[in-house]
Amino acid sequence: MSVQLGMPQPREEAAGALPSVPAARPADAPPGLADRYGRRATDMRLSLTDKCNLRCTYCMPAEGLEWLSKQAVMSAEEIVRIVRIGVEQLGVRELRLTGGEPLVRHDLVEILAALRSNHPSLPVSMTTNGVGLAKKAAALKAAGLTRINVSLDSLHEETFTQLTRRPFLNQVLAGVDAAWAAGLGPVKLNAVLMRGINDAEAPSLLAWALGRGYELRFIEQMPLDADHGWTRRNMITAAEIRELLSSDFVLSPDPRARDGAPAERFEVRRRAAGSAVASGPVLGTVGIIASVTEPFCSDCRRTRITAEGKIMSCLFSREEFDLLGLLRSGASDEALAKRWQDAMWLKPKAHGMDHVGLDAPDFVQPDRSMSAIGG
Ligand code: SAM
Ligand code: SF4
Repeated sequence: MSVQLGMPQPREEAAGALPSVPAARPADAPPGLADRYGRRATDMRLSLTDKCNLRCTYCMPAEGLEWLSKQAVMSAEEIVRIVRIGVEQLGVRELRLTGGEPLVRHDLVEILAALRSNHPSLPVSMTTNGVGLAKKAAALKAAGLTRINVSLDSLHEETFTQLTRRPFLNQVLAGVDAAWAAGLGPVKLNAVLMRGINDAEAPSLLAWALGRGYELRFIEQMPLDADHGWTRRNMITAAEIRELLSSDFVLSPDPRARDGAPAERFEVRRRAAGSAVASGPVLGTVGIIASVTEPFCSDCRRTRITAEGKIMSCLFSREEFDLLGLLRSGASDEALAKRWQDAMWLKPKAHGMDHVGLDAPDFVQPDRSMSAIGG
């Protein structure tokens, strides 16, 4: 059940415990997008569209999803207004554009240019599958995009096609290089490892990324696939990823502060042949986003807006709060800011994915897939 009423409703906590503090945001709550557990969201993830031109098995069904109508999706003006309220009134300090696939939005360059003109120093990054990026990278940079994350799960054409159900590997590789050349670095690459499909490729993917100066991040597969095929047993855990990489590399914790970042970063050195110790200099870093087995909810700083303008305080929220409907009803900036604050106040303490009962029949996967939330 997903609640889409105007007012936020109290929810049951992911781990089962009811909140011990009042659910309604009190008048003396901290400013900005604070929640009941002392966190404050400053990192905004905004989905530009639910549409996508790939069909990654861990995200979308082969036949795609029923796309939102054009009217249901936020217009460029609505996006720009929502971001302005977030930045000017609610303490948003960085913005990530996502989807679905943000590059399929025909007015992407105009949106970026308007955001940049309103917020000259706001870091604005984008997560993309890289299809068509080669042609657009320079224009995105010129319009004001700061940085880019490209998803890349395999360097083998057959495996890439098996995972994404589309034969576009060469386009994606060209897109990554074009983004780098256009000045959209540091380029980060996201890889989801699937057992028996691309997990053995982990060390060679890392070697490839390090060789080009890209920062690879492995993401644990989360139960956010539209096919509901996720199982805990089958997912590749962060511990397994570290083990897979240890065949070729020695990882040591990156001394830089994590600072609320979802990825735990490691410095990477080559492993000396036949030895447990590293040889040579630091080659770069690798990140591991262990959302399932080593969750970082206590330091989460994210607030999410879906393509149809719903506030989601967590990827695993089962409640959504309608910001776009309120905006279209003629609400003031103050009223919109208040709804956003009320919704974020109810952010759950934790998503509960690390709960041992996740595979049990009582675990309920969210209704939305990753593409429909905006990952
Ligand atoms: N289409 C763009 C892309 O793929 O980069 C942006 C949206 S996509 C939903 C954002 C990120 O979510 C991608 O890096 C993708 O690999 C990741 N993702 C999608 N489904 C996932 C899942 N079930 N578990 C973990 N990550 C997932
Ligand atoms: Fe599309 Fe991104 Fe989902 Fe893959 S992960 S299907 S590219 S939205």
